[in-house]
Amino acid sequence: MLRQGAIAAARLAVPRLRAPLSLATRSFSSSLRAATAVPQLGHFKLPDVRNEPMLNYAPGSPERAKLEQAIKEIRRDLAEKGPYRVPTIVNGEEFFEGDAQAQSMPFEHSTKLCTYHNSSAATIRKAIDTALAAKPAWEAMPFNDRAAIFLKAADLLSVKYRYKLLAATMLGQGKNVWQAEIDAAAELADFWRFNCQYASDIYAQQPTKNSELYWNRLEYRPLEGFVTAYSPFNFTAIGGNLVAAPALMGNVVIWKPSPASIYSNYVIMEILKEAGLPDGVVQFVPGDAELVTNETFNHPDFAGLHFTGSTHVFKMLWQKISNNLDIYKSYPRIVGETGGKNMHFLHKSADARHAALQTIRAGFEYQGQKCSACSRVYVPDNLWDEFRETIVTEVKKIKQGPVDDFTNFCGAVINKPSYDKITGYLKNIKNGDGVSSILVGGNFSDAKGYFIEPTVVVTKDPHSKTMTDELFGPVVTVYVYPADKYEETLELADKTTSYGLTAGIFASDRYALIAGANKLRNAAGNFYLNDKCTGAIVGQQPFGGSRASGTNDKAGSALNLYRWISPRTIKESFVPITAFDYPSNKQ
Ligand code: NAD
Repeated sequence: MLRQGAIAAARLAVPRLRAPLSLATRSFSSSLRAATAVPQLGHFKLPDVRNEPMLNYAPGSPERAKLEQAIKEIRRDLAEKGPYRVPTIVNGEEFFEGDAQAQSMPFEHSTKLCTYHNSSAATIRKAIDTALAAKPAWEAMPFNDRAAIFLKAADLLSVKYRYKLLAATMLGQGKNVWQAEIDAAAELADFWRFNCQYASDIYAQQPTKNSELYWNRLEYRPLEGFVTAYSPFNFTAIGGNLVAAPALMGNVVIWKPSPASIYSNYVIMEILKEAGLPDGVVQFVPGDAELVTNETFNHPDFAGLHFTGSTHVFKMLWQKISNNLDIYKSYPRIVGETGGKNMHFLHKSADARHAALQTIRAGFEYQGQKCSACSRVYVPDNLWDEFRETIVTEVKKIKQGPVDDFTNFCGAVINKPSYDKITGYLKNIKNGDGVSSILVGGNFSDAKGYFIEPTVVVTKDPHSKTMTDELFGPVVTVYVYPADKYEETLELADKTTSYGLTAGIFASDRYALIAGANKLRNAAGNFYLNDKCTGAIVGQQPFGGSRASGTNDKAGSALNLYRWISPRTIKESFVPITAFDYPSNKQ
């Protein structure tokens, strides 16, 4: 009522005859004209987005032949010319300065796939300066043009670059064909396409209320400054998304890739360049993580961190940002998706064979090096015999070896530090830790590559080391619990680790599924019923966890894109007022 009264009062205040506009207000200066020249003459509708169709690489298929050819070409190049030389890329310029480092093949560590250089402090500073210089034009580019670049990148990836990027991911990060297809082809194309749709949906969100007297609008500004992105080794797609999500919203990004995924990440830069991403929008600066942190975090224009990696590194980075708060022009956005200790939990009504087979996939695909990988399992004692027999029989069938032999299901872990860490846990168990034993697997060798057998550990202690620590390797630990202690064991599982990334409950009893979902509400950001805890698909199961697993900003969803914008509310008034006071002020 009050608001209607105010509108009525403003109406009364409208003069009948408006004074003629002065010449000065009627004609724009030429510089203003230029500043208001927006060449988007329509509300463009994006092409419909859909998940990238997965190819199956069955023997005799055309895609298998093309991928084999791409791998052969890389092998031939390495034999004839040596490792690829990957540059630092700043504002479109390539730099090869400082000590050369190498990325080796995990399953064949004597073969170097590429070399790269630790970017110097001066080059990182140049990356920041030229990114900031590129920003005004980039953020002023109409959204449909920005989106077109990423849609084109997805199409280039889907067709022209598919096999090159898959081969780079297989040879460099040790993924088998199927895992590389899921990651480097499907997930990356999905990130790029779906984010365009989500961004368009965000821009379309406008205040629901206006009036005849004024117009309310929301403008989704990019952050003021630049974003720093750190990507992990284990998903090529994550690197592509960590940079593309902020860039799509009009930001510029300094990207430090993982030393263990340099070559595939460089191919992403090639794709983005060919798709038309202007120089300076994404700066590719491999090298010393601490130096990149010092240069970017000590800059007043640092506006955001987009991180995926381990929990301890993320906490350390957050701490550094906090310590620097006084030097920043704004509060930096901090987005981090981090570690996990993900579980499968079986109720006594579960299909034990289904759960055991899903555990093999979730625990051992990509050698357990997915952030979502299953690494602890709770099995009720009534199902233990069937679960144990299935898992032992089936794990023994897993074929392991170099990924360019397509019949291998498992390969090697990423590098020596990872191999040493995981085998340290296995040695401890083999030496008799008093509570755990190896049910199947447990052997390892780093003679040619960093091979660790898919291993199932059984423990009597639900808080044993391998039940609580993130090993990030092919080791799954099982704890057998009394079948009638379902709810108590759910509570135990909820409190066993500080993580909260993924979990799967297996039961045919609906009440058990409901109880599991309720008790584990905060134990996982991605929760599965009668399904494995890995395999999230963009546009279907937005991914991310809470607690020590991250800020849960759901990569590949609108929630993530919101973190890279700083909305401005605009109210424009159409009707001049003629007095400052209100009807209520009248005598
Ligand atoms: P990592 O933490 O070792 O490295 C991630 C990035 O941080 C890399 O670019 C690395 O060079 C950089 N980095 C490392 N030390 C740094 C330092 N001191 N200062 C600044 N930057 C530093 O992680 P990783 O081994 O590449 O990846 C595996 C980890 O990532 C696992 O913990 C896994 O769970 C997690 N992960 C999580 C998700 C998720 O969505 N939650 C996805 C993938 C991986």
